[in-house]
Amino acid sequence: MEKVQTTKTKAMTNDKITKTEAEWKEQLSPQQYYVLRKKGTDSAGNGGYTNHFEKGTYHCTACDAQLFTSGSKFKSHCGWPSFDDAIEGTVNYEVDRSLGMVRTEIICANCDGHLGHVFDDGPIKTTGKRYCVNTSSLKFVPEKQQNK
Ligand SMILES: [Zn+2]
Repeated sequence: MEKVQTTKTKAMTNDKITKTEAEWKEQLSPQQYYVLRKKGTDSAGNGGYTNHFEKGTYHCTACDAQLFTSGSKFKSHCGWPSFDDAIEGTVNYEVDRSLGMVRTEIICANCDGHLGHVFDDGPIKTTGKRYCVNTSSLKFVPEKQQNK
């Protein structure tokens, strides 16, 4: 996989999940594989987790790492689930120059799965960031199940 050099290497030293493309293909649905491993994008809309506001955490579909909390989620009306922050250290940032734009791609620090992009037009009251994430990259775990 082609990688843009960044200074974020902290998460790389941990037990990182590495699987072959064939293994990922077996584990994920075709759409999840397309988004997470091929840097694809879910079509915009109000399905998936876009308008989902229950209390809990959002995990990486591929490796189950916790990435976002429901407290960071906000209504962005952009057609994708949006968060104003990620759980610290769970997400890595890479420069994405595809499609003639310069954007900041967000990837799971644990398995390198593609999550989406982060933009600077989030809520000014909090971080000012909008983590625009694909539903296919996320797995919601309700709060109740976590405190079993
Ligand atoms: Zn992951």
